[in-house]
Amino acid sequence: MKKIIIKQAHVVNEGSIRVLDVLISNQRIEKIATGIDVAGAEEIRAEGLYLLPGMIDDQVHFREPGLTHKADIRSESAAAVAGGITSFMEMPNTIPNTLTIDLLEQKYAIAALSSAANFSFYMGISEDNCEEALRIDNSRVCGITDDGLYFNNNHGIMANHPKFLEDLFSRSDAMIALHSEDDAIIEKNLAYYQSLYGNDIPVKYHAAIRSEEACLSATQRVLDICRKHGNRLHFFHVSTAAEAALFDNHCNVRHKRITAEACVHHLWFSDEDYGSRGSLIKWNPAVKSNKDRNGLIEGLISNRIDFIATDHAPHTWSEKMKTYTEAASGGPLVQHALPALLELHHRKVFTLEQVVEKTSHHVAEAYCMIDRGYIREGYYADLVLADLSSSWKVDQQNILYKCGWSPFIGQVFGSKILMTFVSGHKAYAFGKHFPEKQGLRLEFEKDRL
Ligand SMILES: [Zn+2]
Repeated sequence: MKKIIIKQAHVVNEGSIRVLDVLISNQRIEKIATGIDVAGAEEIRAEGLYLLPGMIDDQVHFREPGLTHKADIRSESAAAVAGGITSFMEMPNTIPNTLTIDLLEQKYAIAALSSAANFSFYMGISEDNCEEALRIDNSRVCGITDDGLYFNNNHGIMANHPKFLEDLFSRSDAMIALHSEDDAIIEKNLAYYQSLYGNDIPVKYHAAIRSEEACLSATQRVLDICRKHGNRLHFFHVSTAAEAALFDNHCNVRHKRITAEACVHHLWFSDEDYGSRGSLIKWNPAVKSNKDRNGLIEGLISNRIDFIATDHAPHTWSEKMKTYTEAASGGPLVQHALPALLELHHRKVFTLEQVVEKTSHHVAEAYCMIDRGYIREGYYADLVLADLSSSWKVDQQNILYKCGWSPFIGQVFGSKILMTFVSGHKAYAFGKHFPEKQGLRLEFEKDRL
């Protein structure tokens, strides 16, 4: 394959920004230097542009198999690379749920033929498949999770099953990643609001129903059990300032046994937005107060929260446009996550180096990924070229999600993703995709220290 040189980009990597050339050859970054010339190589002039390591999103729902009226791996991975996401890890609440190794490998096989980005898929866990879940190969599967499965099974949030957690934690050496909310507290809150409004509860009460208390109680319970066993545990989509304060920042993310993430929507929206966006911003866990949003940002900056994910979870418009109790929770984000975080950089919330650390370096470290997450010689060339001074507006014509809507509709972003490289090849360039090329299966160090 022809070599590619990205010339004179502002390379944002490992805490610094430097103007450099980057040579891509045979899936990897061959050389990084000031002034690289190789006869016959394709040169990409990048003066004034920024080169970032691609975002690694550890939490997406791409809905295939079984729910492809909402999304599929091809459509959503194409949206992801257009948004600067080069690798994703996908959730088990597809139909059938990913509860056996066979079903898990079927998803890898689909992605190998259709995914524009690099991929990994979580093994699902329920009360009935513990033995099977414990058989996953840690070097080829990102982890085990219960996330999303409760949509099909009322008893699925593991945080509410301490006995099962004890058993799993005492036996597993895998990355265990959990959704943490307390069902009993949510049910009690929901019953109260139903007594006032029936099933037509105003969406603004979502944060009072799926409350801070519900999140904090479950997270504290899971932490207490996990700390006894010393497992490798990750908390998905932490949504409250109170939870952020529960996590440690005493050591480097690589050496943490317990890590946590915040999601783009919890960093962008607050409960003040329910009035204008309604159920389009209904997520589980709920978007909460400004105080919570600021607490998550502080948690990220202080390294109590380790990185940022999307929880991309598309539903059709009609599935969202229902009464409060019927409207599906979740929304599509992969195309707009990095532009939104770059916008927070423009607003001086995060430095550019922090955006890169929280969307790429720290995810790679937390999952012990092999040769990804940095712009380093010898690493895979997962790269994003962005123009940080080019505005564009999210509108119906430029949304790439199969579901055709975005919670960011009408938003103007001041940064544009121009090109995305996935494992060394162009996956996206100036509005064009290259569907003849696929991403690679992600690999991890077997021992998740
Ligand atoms: Zn979740």
